[in-house]
Amino acid sequence: MAIVDYYGRLVLVNRHQPRPAGVTVLPTIDVGVKNIQCYRCGQVTPKTVAALPNGEFYCPHCINLGRVSTLCKFYHVPEANQFTVTEPVLTWHGKLSPLQSQAAVTVASRMTAHRKQLLWAVTGAGKTEMIFPGIAQALARGERLAVASPRVDVCLELYPRLRAAFANTEMALLHGRAERPYHYAQLTVCTTHQLLRFYHAFDNLIIDEVDAFPYAANPLLFFASQQAVKESGGQLFLTATPGAHLLKAVRRHQLAVAYLPLRYHGHLLPSIHCHLVPRWRQQLLHHQLPSGLIRTMQVALRSGHRFLLFVPHVRDLAGIAQACCSYFPAHLFTTVHASDPQRLVKVQGMRDHQYQFLITTSILERGVTFPEIDVLVLGADDQVFSTAALVQIAGRAGRSASRPEGHVDFWISSYCRRVNQAVHQIAYMNTKGRRCQGAVPAV
Ligand SMILES: [Zn+2]
Repeated sequence: MAIVDYYGRLVLVNRHQPRPAGVTVLPTIDVGVKNIQCYRCGQVTPKTVAALPNGEFYCPHCINLGRVSTLCKFYHVPEANQFTVTEPVLTWHGKLSPLQSQAAVTVASRMTAHRKQLLWAVTGAGKTEMIFPGIAQALARGERLAVASPRVDVCLELYPRLRAAFANTEMALLHGRAERPYHYAQLTVCTTHQLLRFYHAFDNLIIDEVDAFPYAANPLLFFASQQAVKESGGQLFLTATPGAHLLKAVRRHQLAVAYLPLRYHGHLLPSIHCHLVPRWRQQLLHHQLPSGLIRTMQVALRSGHRFLLFVPHVRDLAGIAQACCSYFPAHLFTTVHASDPQRLVKVQGMRDHQYQFLITTSILERGVTFPEIDVLVLGADDQVFSTAALVQIAGRAGRSASRPEGHVDFWISSYCRRVNQAVHQIAYMNTKGRRCQGAVPAV
């Protein structure tokens, strides 16, 4: 390995391997009286669980990135920022809206100051473009950056966009199934798991979809993200649905926050309308749907508005589809779920207007855009739907400038905290959005 390949990293090697010149050795595991602690992922394990033969120990928590044990050591070289900056750094020629520009300036100045910050941008706000100026300035300063996400599909979507926007910058894409091995690059796009392999590497670390599984409430990934940043480094969290721990950090002034409460087209988020239907599951046993749901579907179909009908579980799909067949025999629709082999074909079919509606589980909660649709959720109070998922689901409506209003209706057996919080989060951003609309005209 070349010396640059150790910059800012924890490279796992056998403890008997001779140390190359210029490389620092770091320990792998702290062995205590009852427990061991892993220096790569920070997790504590009882010695009885972590024991290997001959009095050695390993960490079971981060084993999918290669086994850290007392039989190994880490090679590390402090990050040297050995980059050549080629102008122009930013090769993106799009234009930000006045509101996007405002948020972009705030984010960039906090990145310059290496602060910890949150960009709370509503679904469909165009948040990726808003971080381009901040990234461009940091790269021009010679900083090393990473854009990480808990979801590999987000990384795969971000990488080509960042490649195009920073065409003169050396970039790396790292995830569990990546084809190209690790190489030293000024801008790294990776899953949050891959951050475990870095140590004080990045001057600024950006984490996209920070609320998404499995980063939220995962102490291992949280530790990884803290350790991957230089001690003097900055962090930027991007989300449309910040969880309780981020909001708490904002309230305690540990995290600076910038808001983007309007969508790229300058309109507010559609509000959620809740309808109580305590007996919908019993009705479904008799192949019936709540009358309010049927009316809403009729109105949408009559007005030519297509929609997604979200339901809690895969097992709910068949019964609801059967009921829809009898209520709407003349209309084209289908069901889709995560392990449906026809999933991609059906989603494409919806894009191509082959269907008037799709009945779906929460797999379509984010990352999918169908213009001009409404959103209906039956059983929104089911515990499979987190607050973040409900806000994301509601955010499928009204995404296009051609029909920015969209309708969002939830049918629930009873009010619950998750539904209330989703309604409240959207109302909160809309209050902020109305203030901005006074200052910036909608397109
Ligand atoms: Zn570990």
